[in-house]
Amino acid sequence: MTKDEIKALVRTVPDFPAKGILFRDVTTLIRHGEGFAACIAHLAQLAEAAGADAIAGMEARGFIFGAAVAAQMRLGFVPVRKPGKLPVRTVGIDYALEYGRDRLEIDPGAITNGARVVIVDDLIATGGTALAATELLRGAGARVDHALFVIDLPDLHGAERLRSAGVTVEALMD
Ligand code: AMP
Repeated sequence: MTKDEIKALVRTVPDFPAKGILFRDVTTLIRHGEGFAACIAHLAQLAEAAGADAIAGMEARGFIFGAAVAAQMRLGFVPVRKPGKLPVRTVGIDYALEYGRDRLEIDPGAITNGARVVIVDDLIATGGTALAATELLRGAGARVDHALFVIDLPDLHGAERLRSAGVTVEALMD
C-alpha cells in the first residue's frame, strides 16, 4: 500500500477538540488492517535506517504506532507516559502547551546509556511534545537523533523546531 493510499485512510474532523481545529483522526487508519500494517512497515523501514536500538512512543497514540514498530523490529518499546502512571520512581519534564502545561514521565531504568532511541508518534504539530520527549530521553542517557510520525502538519513548524535540537524528522504524509 502506497503512502497516498495510507493518507486516504486518515479522517479529518473539523472543530475537534475546539472550534477551528482540523483534527486528523488516525482511528480510521488503524482499524484498516492492511493500511495499519503498511503504515507500520513504512515506519519500521525508517527506524531501521535510523539505526534504532529501541523505540519510544508518547501516550496515547504514540503507543499504538510505536509499540507496533518495536515489535515488528524485535526491539524494546519505552512508554513516555502522562504523569502519575508509572509504578516506579520516574524522571519527568514539564512543557508548555498552546493552552496551559503538561508533563511527561519515563522510568529511567528503561534507557540503556548511549542507546539510540527513535521516537514514534501519530502526529507532529508544534513539536512541543516531541521536543519534551527528546529532552527527557536524552536526560536519561539516550541518543535521540530521529523522530518518526505518521502525519506532519508543516504549517506549525514542529519539524524545524526538532531539527534545531539535532533531531531529524520524517513523516509518512503532510
Ligand atoms: P505538538 O506537541 O504540538 O506537536 O502536538 C502533538 C500532539 O498533539 C500529537 O501527539 C497529536 O496527537 C496531537 N495533535 C495536535 N494537533 C493535532 C491535530 N490537528 N489532529 C490530531 N492530533 C493533533
